[in-house]
Order: sequence, then C-alpha cells, then structure tokens
Amino acid sequence: MIQYTCDLCGCMINSDSNKRFVVKLEIYPIDTSLEIVPMDSDTDPIELMEKMIESANEIEIEELPRNETRRFDLCCGCHKKFSTDPLGRKTSRKVYFSSN
Ligand SMILES: [Zn+2]
Repeated sequence: MIQYTCDLCGCMINSDSNKRFVVKLEIYPIDTSLEIVPMDSDTDPIELMEKMIESANEIEIEELPRNETRRFDLCCGCHKKFSTDPLGRKTSRKVYFSSN
C-alpha cells in the first residue's frame, strides 16, 4: 500500500481506500513583444526583421521567468475545494479580513 500526503491539508491518502487527485500546473510567461504584427504594404520586411532582432537583443534572459511545471497530490475533499476555487481567491480573502 502506497501512502501519499495531501499537499493542501496534509492528511494521509491511502492508495487503496482513498481517492487521490493530481493537479498539474504549468506556468509560463507570454512575451508580447514577439507577437506577429500585421504588415503594412509599405513596410520593408528586412527592416522589420532587423527591428525585431534589435528588440529581442534588448531583453535580458535573466529577467524572464522560466517555464514552471508543478504537481500536487490532493485528497477528495481538497480536490472539491480546489475545483470550485482553483486560485484560492475566496480562501485568501477570508484570511485577509480575519487578520485585521
Ligand atoms: Zn486534503
């Protein structure tokens, strides 16, 4: 029997008797500067390419956060909570008000 721990409430999940849910999150930045711009008839494509390369060189690689993939194990109860409020907005609001 394999035992897992719920990453939200910390309870033990037995693989035999309890349902276990896996949440996979993928976080990645969207670089809007590299979006394709519709070309005007009087835009020189070579000039446009040079401008794009210039602006790409200005971006420092360290500034951009890397793609991040995360994996969480959830128990049945926490899965229900997560699926109704995936970003924890209701929960964080409660915590915010109770701390005042
Ligand atoms: Zn849980």
